[in-house]
Amino acid sequence: MNKMILKSGKEKALLQKHPWIFSGAVQEIQGEPANGESVAVYGSNQQFLGIASYSPYSQIRGRIWSFKEEAIDLAFFRMRIRNALARRAQIREMTEDSGWRLIHGESDLLPGLVVDLYNDVLVVQILSSGAEYCREMIIEALLLETGVANIFERSDVDVRKLEGLVPRVGLICGSVPDSVLIREGKYQFQVHLKEGQKTGFYLDQRENRQIAARYCTGKDVLNVFSFTGGFSVHALGNGARMVVSMDSSQEALAVAQENVKINGLENENTEWIAADAFQHLRKMRDQGRSFDVIILDPPKFAPTAAQVERAARGYKDINLLGFKLLRPGGVLITFSCSGGLTEALFQKIVADAALDAGADGMILERLHQGIDHPVGLAFPEGAYLKGLIVRKD
Ligand code: SAH
Repeated sequence: MNKMILKSGKEKALLQKHPWIFSGAVQEIQGEPANGESVAVYGSNQQFLGIASYSPYSQIRGRIWSFKEEAIDLAFFRMRIRNALARRAQIREMTEDSGWRLIHGESDLLPGLVVDLYNDVLVVQILSSGAEYCREMIIEALLLETGVANIFERSDVDVRKLEGLVPRVGLICGSVPDSVLIREGKYQFQVHLKEGQKTGFYLDQRENRQIAARYCTGKDVLNVFSFTGGFSVHALGNGARMVVSMDSSQEALAVAQENVKINGLENENTEWIAADAFQHLRKMRDQGRSFDVIILDPPKFAPTAAQVERAARGYKDINLLGFKLLRPGGVLITFSCSGGLTEALFQKIVADAALDAGADGMILERLHQGIDHPVGLAFPEGAYLKGLIVRKD
């Protein structure tokens, strides 16, 4: 096997079981590994550190498959997948929900691999050249371990470019309809698997949609960045008086409307606004509109740590408008899914927004990504979604 030798003093992260090797840590590559091929990683003192996939185009030059000397073969992937399923077995048994993240990349010790289950369909995302290199084995292992015969690939994400990979979308095996109807709590949601955002649904907000709904009974709710109406359906189901859903995607809003209808929750107090939130919230403020509950779940403004500053301005702006549109005693349910932005900084941004809006606020709850999106103790970067429920006093 080809070798990756680290610079002296750069072994520490791996010894703490962090799975990434940055380009600056690499002293030399021995041999000529292909993009994504496995290499044995050694410290400057010849100490074996692990087996990694090699990403010559990315700043993350290596991603650890294993900290042991073992073959990265079908049996390896079967074991990793079996462990990921076991991690979720108990929580899956507790509900009738049929949409689950089964594999969450680094946090399931499978860097670059994301697998979501929607009823009897797996949607696979291959994000790193290492996972791409092992694609055939990974698919075979998934078939053998999950017993799910229908697999669709949605490797159409920007991060693949950083790995020197082109996008790939299409049927891998079995038969996969354009959309499926999944269950989440008391409700059903139509999920369009083959196009649009993520793998079709924001599974990471499952628990938070139920928590948010508790604040919505009898209230006027504004759901900004609504996508296909996850929070809107839960709010209406829990007796919201009015729900306004806003998203820049006309397609997402159309599905949101269908999702409300499927659950028998249509009423004259639902409003659908296809608009840019930054502009339209200003307009609503100028019109003097106000709400009891405002949900802000924007897209990732800072995919990497480098974009944090620009992202911070976006979060500040949107939360400031949120506080202005909120009635006294109202509740702001605000999220950031930017991995590069820490929970502490997010709280500071929300606090600054309240200050600028002339509002006092109290944090009632802190929210995080759902339980099927675990965070490896050695991989804090895996904790990307954070949310605050803030009462405006
Ligand atoms: N809360 C949703 C997920 C939101 S994802 C759920 O529970 O399913 C973020 C959404 O923001 C996407 O649907 C995207 O279309 C939308 N979006 C992105 N930029 C926007 C903008 N400037 N204004 C309004 N919506 C935007």
